[in-house]
Amino acid sequence: MALPTSSGNRLLAALPPADFDLLAPHLQKMSFGFDAVLVRTGDEFKQVYFPMSGAIAFLVEMLDGHIVASTLMGSEGAVGVLSVLSPSQSPVTARAYAAGSAFQIPVSQLQLAFDRSAAVKRILRLHLRTQLLQLQNVAACNAVHPVECRMARWLLELHDRVGGETIQLTQDALAQLLGVRRTTVTLTMSRLRAAGAIKADRRGMLEIKRTGLESVACECYTVMRRRIDRMYGEEL
Ligand SMILES: [Zn+2]
Repeated sequence: MALPTSSGNRLLAALPPADFDLLAPHLQKMSFGFDAVLVRTGDEFKQVYFPMSGAIAFLVEMLDGHIVASTLMGSEGAVGVLSVLSPSQSPVTARAYAAGSAFQIPVSQLQLAFDRSAAVKRILRLHLRTQLLQLQNVAACNAVHPVECRMARWLLELHDRVGGETIQLTQDALAQLLGVRRTTVTLTMSRLRAAGAIKADRRGMLEIKRTGLESVACECYTVMRRRIDRMYGEEL
């Protein structure tokens, strides 16, 4: 079997060849479709995923049925890294908001590489630090910023990972990202349309107007992007 020799994942791509070679025999390429679930809340992590494309939301499920997103992940990160520190159950459901592909690796193999390689330790610790930073920001954003600003922020984050002029996104999916009712999504989308931030909503396809979205989004989008880019730039 031919081993992976290069990677579209930013963390894996930052590994020196000798460190990447520790992982390569165990990396398996997989594809995921829109709405695919990589891990459910309460499941034990068996695989860690390094996306090369697409977007995956980490969703927190409340006991009363409410669902809200904590962070969004694409080719800059990974899914399931906490399991490398100790065996653990997933505190979130990881659901694809845009189809893509990823390398998956058994947790046990990633743990062995983590123990042997300073470079593997460095990329996984960096990933966890950027996650923590985003979680803190999202908690603050959810508490103080209006829903249309937060919707614009999520759409920009999704667009960063998907590209193109249109995004496939149902109102139910947007309601989960924001942790609000569908009626709130409908009202908020009409405000974004009026602001020139989105153009159409036909068959779940949203036409994105980046300039409009950037003018509506709260400062969280730009602040977090700059901080994370700086961390990646300094440490990878
Ligand atoms: Zn905000």
